[in-house]
Amino acid sequence: MLLLEEEKRKLVEGLWSKGIKDENVLKAIYDIPREKFISDALRKFAYDDNALPIECAQTISQPFTVAYMTQVLDIKPGDKILEIGTGSGYQAAVLCKLGAEVYSVERIEKLFENASILLPELGFKVHIKLDDGTLGWEENAPYDKIIVTAGAPDIPHHLVEQLIIGGKLVIPVGDQQTQKLFELTRTETGFEKKFYDYFKFVPLIGAEGWKA
Ligand code: SAH
Repeated sequence: MLLLEEEKRKLVEGLWSKGIKDENVLKAIYDIPREKFISDALRKFAYDDNALPIECAQTISQPFTVAYMTQVLDIKPGDKILEIGTGSGYQAAVLCKLGAEVYSVERIEKLFENASILLPELGFKVHIKLDDGTLGWEENAPYDKIIVTAGAPDIPHHLVEQLIIGGKLVIPVGDQQTQKLFELTRTETGFEKKFYDYFKFVPLIGAEGWKA
């Protein structure tokens, strides 16, 4: 069996060769113990570049997807970030490691509870709320950046309204099979849109998402 450091190194080298060149993102992925975010039975797969099942029929995203979205977000220390879809808490941990102030919303109570225990246990200070994240988290708005880690049928307008001018929203939009990654930047007069690759996420369910 490979040593943990060896597995982590292989994962990070693989991400680099797939186009993740941001050293800080690669370092965060190397440093965060992904095995702690999944069940014991799956630990041997922790550093494979694959999504893995977590409780409640949800998934921890593929490391490449986490790294890609984080690279697009271009995190600066002190950025105030809203994440929709806490899930295992792994993506929130990566953002936190990069020095962001992270607010994360999860709609499934069990996952919210697990992440509320795990993240502080691992030393990550993340603000987590149990709610429908398609409505954002109004009290702490505006955010420098917003990341949605579930696939949306459309761009939720509440999220757009909670961005600062110059802030950006990164969100996968499409049908329930595949989604295109959108980056939307709020400008003085409106918005600018950019598109990236296709990904496959679990559905974003809520008032401005898919219906449960
Ligand atoms: N960022 C997570 C990925 C989890 S998968 C990680 O790193 O592990 C996506 C998550 O989005 C699931 O936990 C799902 O329950 C959650 N989700 C789906 N719709 C949501 C909504 N409207 N509000 C908040 N969370 C939502």
